[in-house]
Amino acid sequence: MPHPCLSCGACCAHYRVSFHWSEAEPALGGLVPAELTVPLRSHERAMHGTEGGGDPRCVALDADIGRYSRCSIHPVRPQACRDVAASWESGQPSRQCDQARLAHGLPPLTPADWIWREAAANDRDGNPDGSDNPNDRGTPPPALPPPIAA
Ligand code: SF4
Ligand code: SF4
Repeated sequence: MPHPCLSCGACCAHYRVSFHWSEAEPALGGLVPAELTVPLRSHERAMHGTEGGGDPRCVALDADIGRYSRCSIHPVRPQACRDVAASWESGQPSRQCDQARLAHGLPPLTPADWIWREAAANDRDGNPDGSDNPNDRGTPPPALPPPIAA
């Protein structure tokens, strides 16, 4: 079973993703691509596509919500995105995750959605061939960390 975020993306298409403008200012060390952002309030920018109301969807999101999801700027995404937890990934529910999934017709995650990590932890040889563990389905891909409500 892959990381649940990789078949979701709901939070990237539910919340306004806003952050301090300096995160998109290279002169100050900001790494978020400014061309993918828009000015918001006096000290803020937002990911383009999420700044209005209605039907937000981040311009950096490559996804068919509920089928596959990828953040096209994952290494340089805003801190707000890094701060959103997927429900039960760290042993507790996440209201932001649950609400976004429900809004897209997806059930909230449960602890059962993370059982694959136990199999990965028991993988002694690191090979995804099941040779040392019948539950071995290979190393799961990295998470797609999501956004945060503003
Ligand atoms: S954090 Fe939750 S809503 Fe966001 S992509 Fe992951 S599973 Fe989906
Ligand atoms: S993680 Fe953030 S920057 Fe990436 S697609 Fe989602 S909302 Fe956009």
